[in-house]
Formats: sequence, structure tokens, C-alpha cells
Amino acid sequence: MPVQFKTIIEPFRIHSVEPLRMTTSALRQEAIRQAGYNLFSLHAEDVLIDLLTDSGTGAMSRDQWAAIQHGDESYAGSPSWFRFEAAVKELFPFQHIIPTHQGRAAEKILFSVVGGPGKVIPNNTHFDTTRANVEFTGAEALDLVIPEGKDPQAIHPFKGNLDLDALEALLFERIDDVPAVFITVTNNSGGGQPVSLANIRGASGICHRYKVPLFLDACRFAENAWFIHEREAGQGDREIPDIVREMASLTDGMTMSAKKDPFGNIGGWLAVNDNSLAESCRNLLILTEGFPTYGGLAGRDLEAIAQGLREAVHPDYLRYRIRSTAYLGDALDQAGVPVVKPIGGHAVYIDARALLAHIPPLEYPGQSLAVALYEIGGIRSVEIGTVMFGRKPDGSEVPAEMDLVRLAVPRRTYTQSHVDYVIEVVLEVAREAATLPGYRMVSEPPALRHFTATFEPIT
Ligand SMILES: *Cc1c(COP(=O)(O)O)cnc(C)c1O
Repeated sequence: MPVQFKTIIEPFRIHSVEPLRMTTSALRQEAIRQAGYNLFSLHAEDVLIDLLTDSGTGAMSRDQWAAIQHGDESYAGSPSWFRFEAAVKELFPFQHIIPTHQGRAAEKILFSVVGGPGKVIPNNTHFDTTRANVEFTGAEALDLVIPEGKDPQAIHPFKGNLDLDALEALLFERIDDVPAVFITVTNNSGGGQPVSLANIRGASGICHRYKVPLFLDACRFAENAWFIHEREAGQGDREIPDIVREMASLTDGMTMSAKKDPFGNIGGWLAVNDNSLAESCRNLLILTEGFPTYGGLAGRDLEAIAQGLREAVHPDYLRYRIRSTAYLGDALDQAGVPVVKPIGGHAVYIDARALLAHIPPLEYPGQSLAVALYEIGGIRSVEIGTVMFGRKPDGSEVPAEMDLVRLAVPRRTYTQSHVDYVIEVVLEVAREAATLPGYRMVSEPPALRHFTATFEPIT
């Protein structure tokens, strides 16, 4: 028997590096004050370890950079388009692939066609842009994740699962109001938790009985497929692409951000099987994104994504990817920091409401924790809680389901010593938790307020 080593190493070595700028806590306190205590308003150069998002922030491979040189910028019918389309269909064999500049453009187009006042779109948990694009049409965005998915401490292998009884009840009561059902894999706003193949199959059966199309919000399809491979009975011997194809075959379409699992710095797509839906969507695409063989993308972007899709489903990469996120989460958990468990695929979510129990939800404990992580250690995270989801379409403000702070791990970007530093900073902030202030919101825009709202500490 060969020796089995327990260290799971990065399955790559570094070929090109970017310097990090070291900053002092005095500089950071001034920078965040000037940013209105909104981490989105910082200059990225003032951030040491940027865990704001795993979106578009991954390191591209040598082969992706090489693919970029093959980019063909023909306006129509570029070979780069056909390579992109083939790479997408290899994993997601839908009839129509409609390229967009990122995921929310795909959402905007789809919901413009199927949404509208009186409609309701169920999802396990809507991502912020998905919810905003649904609500912008006047439709309702309904979250139907299983009860375990709302409890940060509940252990369940597939905490992202859709509550199938609730889905069935909704379709039974309001079938005429539901133009599409969504499942987000992995469930980003619910802690990066996976959805089982059995759950997608169950949802598919219900949707097809009611003749409602089922869509995947598939941004982290590869990470979700890895969890299925690792955790679902009977799936351990299957190839990852095979699992992905089955996920797709159970559904009628997808929205996608290529800035997540496919290692794009930009990009996305909408895919559907239905011909007339595809035609309506393509007409809108031409109006807002571009011709259907490039959407919002340059030929070189299409090439980078096509290559990235192949790398995203490699088992050596996925084993490292999921383990490196768990490495951060397990260390915080073992030190007593409340985190969403099990640890998700792309991010670790700290339960700020539990850690900063002295700050009421409407004084934004998540924002307070995120500001402290920056001031003390130069780490940029993001609040996923009452700042992001507290404002309702009727204008009222209520606490979100949970107040989380997400530490998103960019793909192939940071090393283990960066992560060890992050662990040290979080533990230091946790020790000082009782001294952190609540915040009040000073200004906010009408939608997606977390991106541009400004705050001040309550002293
Ligand atoms: C990122 C993301 C989107 C939106 O994609 P963008 O490329 O950022 O517009 C939609 N859904 C989920 C689950 C996401 O993570």
C-alpha cells in the first residue's frame, strides 16, 4: 500500500505573483472612516487579504492565459464563441446557451421575460442580485430552504436543499403565479451549503408534474458536485462532469456567473431548453448585452471561460478547494468562534449575531464585525445579514434571517500562510468582541443598499 499523506497540497505552483501592500491599523481606521464604514468603498490597495468575494477574483491558469491569445474578436460567429458553447454544453447540455457579461445580466433578462407583478419565484435562498432582479419586475422572491438551512448550528450534509413540501404546497395553491422554480448550487446566501442530487431530482419531479420549469442558479456547480461525490450515497465512484450533467439534465435551464467556479474574471450565461423563451431572451440580449455569439463578452473572455470550465471539474483541484475552505472554518470552529456548519464550499460564514450578542440586529452586528476585521487585520469580508436583506419592498426594515459575515475564499489565490494569518486576526477580533460598537445607517440607495450605504458607529 502506498503511504497516504494527510496534507492536501495546492495542486499548482506559483508562476506569476502580485505584491500585497502592507498597511497599519491607523491607516486602515482612517480609510474605513472615509469609506463611510462600507467595505465596498475601500480602495482595494488598502486591503491586505481580500475575502470580500470569490467572484472574478480567482487566479487564472497558464492554460487560461494561453487560451486568451486564441481569442477571436469577430463580431458574429467567432470560433471563440463555438469553443465556449461546446465547453458549456459538455457539462450543461441545454438547447440554447446565451452569453452575458455576468450572472446578473442573465437574471435581468430571464426575469424581465417571466417575472412581473403578482408572480412568485421560489428558490432555496435567493442570492442578492437574484432577489433584486426578481423584485425589480414586481414579482416576489420566496426563499424555501429546508429548516436546517436557517439554523447556523444545525448539521446536515445538504443544508442547501429546497423544502420540497413547501414547494409542492406553493405550486398547489398558486400554480398560475409561478413562472419558474430556482435552486441555487451551492446555496451562497445560506452559507455556501450544497444541494443533493436527490433533492434536485425531487424538485424536478414536482416541477414537471405542475409543468413549471426548474432552473439552476449554477454559479458553484463544481463545488456542489464535489459535495455530492463526497457525501451522497452511491455517488462516490462517479466522475464530477457526470454528476454535473445529471444535475443539468434534471432541470430546464440555468443562470450562471462565470466569475465563480469557471475561473473567469468576467462572464456569465443563461441557458434554456424552451425555444420561444430562448427567442424572447435573445431579443433582450441584443438590446442590452450584444449579439448572441458574444453577449457581453470579448472573444478572449469566452476562451478563458471555456478553459476554466475544464479545470473547475478536476478532482485534484476540487479536493484542495473544498479542503482549504474547511481548513479556515475548522480552525475558527475549534477555537470557539461561532461559524455556519458544516463549512461551505467557497466561504466561511461567521455568525455575527451570536458572536456580537450585545448588538441588536438593527444595529448591524455583521457590519460591526466586518469593520473590525478590517481595522485590526486588514481583512475585507462582507456582511450577509440585515444590511444586505433587512429592507423590504414595502419600505419597512426587519432583521434578516441571520446576521452572518462571509469570508469568501478566492480560487487558487491565497496560500496557507495567508489563511493562518486570517485565523489569527479573527481570533483576536473575537477576543475583543464585547467592545465592538453597533452601527447606524446614514444613507442608503433604493435597491441593493449594502453596496453603497454609509454608516457611523453608535458610541
Ligand atoms: C455571484 C452570484 C450571482 C450573480 O452573478 P454576477 O456575475 O455577480 O452578476 C448570482 N447568483 C449567485 C448564487 C451568485 O453567487
